[in-house]
Amino acid sequence: MRHVEPVVSLIAKPQIDWEAIDAYLDEVGGRSWSDRVQNAPSPDAEDLLEFSGRMCYRSWEPGLNPNVSRVRTDSAAYLGNVIGSQHGSVLEHANFTFILHNVSRVLTHELIRHRAGCAYSQESLRYVRLDEVPFWFPEWAREDEELMERSLKVLETLEEHQKWMAEHFKLDEEGTNFAHKKHMTSFMRRFAPEGLGTGIVYTANLRSLRHVVEMRTAPGAEEEIRLVFDKIGRIMQQEAPAIFADYTVEDGAWLPGTRKA
Ligand SMILES: Cc1cc2nc3c(=O)[nH]c(=O)nc-3n(C[C@H](O)[C@H](O)[C@H](O)COP(=O)(O)OP(=O)(O)OC[C@H]3O[C@@H](n4cnc5c(N)ncnc54)[C@H](O)[C@@H]3O)c2cc1C
Repeated sequence: MRHVEPVVSLIAKPQIDWEAIDAYLDEVGGRSWSDRVQNAPSPDAEDLLEFSGRMCYRSWEPGLNPNVSRVRTDSAAYLGNVIGSQHGSVLEHANFTFILHNVSRVLTHELIRHRAGCAYSQESLRYVRLDEVPFWFPEWAREDEELMERSLKVLETLEEHQKWMAEHFKLDEEGTNFAHKKHMTSFMRRFAPEGLGTGIVYTANLRSLRHVVEMRTAPGAEEEIRLVFDKIGRIMQQEAPAIFADYTVEDGAWLPGTRKA
């Protein structure tokens, strides 16, 4: 048994090819928008949303669309208005990818219920054989001596059983074919606890992230997923501050100013 903590790492985010955007704007007009935004500190994810949103009315600058005589020049205010008006589809252009490391199957099972705007690649315990049981104990559990003593005994028994089965099924003997290994590894995972620490790559667009951060930090949500989505919410406030500007955090619950954006 190895004690672990859930870890969230952001591994990918939008990066704009400004040359390509400028070539387009040189043709249709609106280059002043690009010049302004490129000189501002806003992240590419937000610039991408703003560019996409302005496509709808050709509102990169006044006059490109004869119906538009004035445009907002404050990017954060522009994006705040997109969210406040619930034009959530604009937020779907920006995707972020995280590794969730040392999270339990309790968490991954709940997470993958979110389908709209998400993608997942989860460690397969059919292929990846367990030789230990990484496990997260919340602080309140660690403070309960009797609970810890009994729990560790259970986990050590399960871990020992994994090792015994691997020997029993001769998985490490020369000549053991892969189909047998896969078959037995899948059987062996049935004896892994649901709290086993594992890994998943999680990609979501900003519309989905706003929704899932709210749902999974709500007071009624499960404690590990609350912890992980609090971390994700904090990362997103750094990465896309204008998109998470309307949230207030109360007792760990992230509450948006506008729902269903
Ligand atoms: C505290 C808590 C307790 C839960 N308990 C249970 C439980 O006991 N049992 C259980 O089975 N599940 C449970 N769930 C899971 C829950 O029912 C949802 O399946 C899960 O949270 C995914 O959320 P979502 O439906 O908003 O999906 P997402 O994929 O995140 O979708 C986002 C939004 O897009 C729209 N959308 C997505 N898919 C469709 C679609 N096919 N058609 C139309 N609109 C769509 C909806 O407006 C949806 O809210 C629980 C969730 C929470 C947060």
